[in-house]
Amino acid sequence: MTEIIDGNAVAEDVRGDVSDAVDALAESDVTPTLATVLMSDDPASETYVSMKQNDCEEVGIDTVDVELDSDADAAELYDTIDELNADDDVNGILVQMPVPDHVDDRRVLRSIDPEKDVDGLHPENIGRLVAGDARYKPCTPHGIQRLLEAAEVETEGKEAVVVGRSRLVGKPMANLFIQYGDGGNATTTVCHSRTEDLAAKTREADILVAAAGVPEMIDGSMIGEGAVVIDVGINQVDADNEKGYELVGDVDFDSAKEQASAITPVPGGVGPMTRAMLLYNTVNAAAVQSGVESALD
Ligand code: NAD
Repeated sequence: MTEIIDGNAVAEDVRGDVSDAVDALAESDVTPTLATVLMSDDPASETYVSMKQNDCEEVGIDTVDVELDSDADAAELYDTIDELNADDDVNGILVQMPVPDHVDDRRVLRSIDPEKDVDGLHPENIGRLVAGDARYKPCTPHGIQRLLEAAEVETEGKEAVVVGRSRLVGKPMANLFIQYGDGGNATTTVCHSRTEDLAAKTREADILVAAAGVPEMIDGSMIGEGAVVIDVGINQVDADNEKGYELVGDVDFDSAKEQASAITPVPGGVGPMTRAMLLYNTVNAAAVQSGVESALD
């Protein structure tokens, strides 16, 4: 029987721990605060930001909501980040990506105070992650580590194959797999758009993480028997329903399930974990900035 790894259930556990940690911080008069910055008219980005704000409210994290016109000067966004960096009441800053083309997204990520960079994407925080001294692990790969742990999937000595080399998912995921310690010690291969014979690589995986953003590109024939399959993809494809579209992963779930020993669904797999780990990082940020010990590890 293939195990369907339930991201909603594991995320609920993480949120419970976060909520307890928020209560513990309240005893020291600390209320974690996350600032979200949206500079986009894209309905998906708007939805993501409002979901993140609702998640915060549920666990007792305060939010500051900044919205900028998508055609505003790039300087407005840089100034907003400077102001939030200087605001002692703000512990975490999340700029919803992607930003419009006229904004330099690398500069945006570099401008956020590394201590408030709860997405873990500032070069300093990426450097610390690579060095094995992570401050905030990027939310999606961190969430995947938690999912694997909850499903009791051993990573040590296993072949981990990551499809995708983005700054957001693929690169940090691969780096976490090669770190010493729990959730690491895996022999790791990173595949990408220039990889030759992708299927030969993915078939070798004991743990396969698909983060390419290509709908259902990994099917059962590309998966070795008994592999654990983590589907990061969220792709909108046309569908004959009221909305006119549906969301599918990078994995063809039905054929992959025939081969895998465990697999994450889309939706309800990695997505809820990404959101939960943002809360986790925000609480840890508030603790560090207030000099109070966090109840989270
Ligand atoms: P990206 O576009 O920045 O990177 C995609 C990567 O996949 C690139 O490195 C590219 O080299 C590789 N790639 C593209 N086509 C390929 C192919 N045919 N074969 C092999 N490799 C290929 O995307 P991203 O930000 O890493 O996101 C990847 C997917 O994950 C998207 O669908 C995104 O929506 C989704 N996502 C989901 C979550 C979540 O919480 N579930 C979080 C972040 C991203």
